[in-house]
Amino acid sequence: MHSSPRHQTLTLSEEKQLLDAIDRWVVREVRPQVKDFDHADRYPHELVEQMKELGLFGATISQQYGGLGLPASVYAQIVMRISSEWMALTGIFNSHLMLALAIEKFGTEEQKNEWLPRLATGEVRGGLALTEPDAGTDLQGIRMTARREGDEYVINGAKTWITNGIEGSCFALLVKTNPQAEPRHKGMSLFIAPKGNGFTAGRKLEKLGYKAIETSELVFDNYRVPAKNLIGGVEGQGFYQATGGLELGRINVAARGVGIAEGALRLAADYASGRKTFGKPIAEHQAIQLKLGEMATRARAARLLTLDAAATFDRGDRCDMEAGMAKYFSSEAALENSIESMRIHGAYGYSKEYDIERLYRDAPLTCIGEGTNEMQRIIIAKQLMKRSAEA
Ligand SMILES: Cc1cc2nc3c(=O)[nH]c(=O)nc-3n(C[C@H](O)[C@H](O)[C@H](O)COP(=O)(O)OP(=O)(O)OC[C@H]3O[C@@H](n4cnc5c(N)ncnc54)[C@H](O)[C@@H]3O)c2cc1C
Repeated sequence: MHSSPRHQTLTLSEEKQLLDAIDRWVVREVRPQVKDFDHADRYPHELVEQMKELGLFGATISQQYGGLGLPASVYAQIVMRISSEWMALTGIFNSHLMLALAIEKFGTEEQKNEWLPRLATGEVRGGLALTEPDAGTDLQGIRMTARREGDEYVINGAKTWITNGIEGSCFALLVKTNPQAEPRHKGMSLFIAPKGNGFTAGRKLEKLGYKAIETSELVFDNYRVPAKNLIGGVEGQGFYQATGGLELGRINVAARGVGIAEGALRLAADYASGRKTFGKPIAEHQAIQLKLGEMATRARAARLLTLDAAATFDRGDRCDMEAGMAKYFSSEAALENSIESMRIHGAYGYSKEYDIERLYRDAPLTCIGEGTNEMQRIIIAKQLMKRSAEA
């Protein structure tokens, strides 16, 4: 069993109503503007305001703190639908919700009351700041330190690759409160870190895809944070807290992969029915049918794996292996479907006037975030062996 924020139970018709509203918003507001935002690498402020109204910044925050309290299975479907058009948009609320999850799952009652209502409305937006220039997969190798001084901690160091780093104002920040501790994770702590004196956003990183939403460095120079912002109030729990949201995080990324895999399939099918060669639509050539058949199967398998992991999560059952499988499979499906769809588009797939080039640039990120797919397979194998030993 895992302990997670309480979620509300939706009837099928409430679920449909919510997902239909997301669909309408995607078609009316996102689809017509996505190319402009993506190509100009321009932050979509207008869409963010609409996302606030849709309640997306509080999607998985419990209702008692002002969120929608959605189960993972419904949340995943929202992420799938938006990602089938524009995956980057989901990063604006996905990593924000990982910050909220860390507070709701591990924070004190005072921390939850202080932060969750403002995170739920999107008044405060932020993300998760773990990665450093020399430490990504090996998180225990981070160097950032926090030294206690009276009622405050003084923090120095730098983070990199932080989503929402410039537009966000508050981050769950992983630091070393005891750099000498052995094992290393016992010296790690997680803080709620609002921007202020000594905490500035650094360079915006130029990326292949995942445009418009910024990923940046964060710089800490004698930044002082009140001791009451130490999540849970006890030092040494940070590694456990930072990785405690990984199951939901992986379901999240899996859902993004499903969205891209389905979006690429839709674009391919549309194009293949209109484009003619040798007197008939290319969809009637067997070589294209083989591709469409494989793509459709991959997208469906990815969807089912992701919904299965989400349902396991919602029941409160252990789902580390299921979430890992969903994340691994769906992200690879996103990558494969986007390149196959691009091939079906011929030269037009290589053109910036068509949408598939965006999905093709966005897909690889799903293989990196929330644990690379190399690590994912190792985690799955370890869980497999552990569970069979326990059975
Ligand atoms: C667009 C973008 C947004 C991001 N947003 C955030 C964010 O908001 N917050 C945040 O904290 N981080 C963020 N990240 C960072 C991301 O989480 C890391 O890039 C990721 O954890 C991998 O770390 P790394 O890049 O340091 O790779 P490394 O850890 O250096 O890995 C390099 C390669 O070695 C492999 N490898 C490493 N260790 C092992 C091992 N033991 N066995 C087998 N293979 C191994 C990896 O799979 C990979 O292929 C973001 C990254 C990107 C690209």
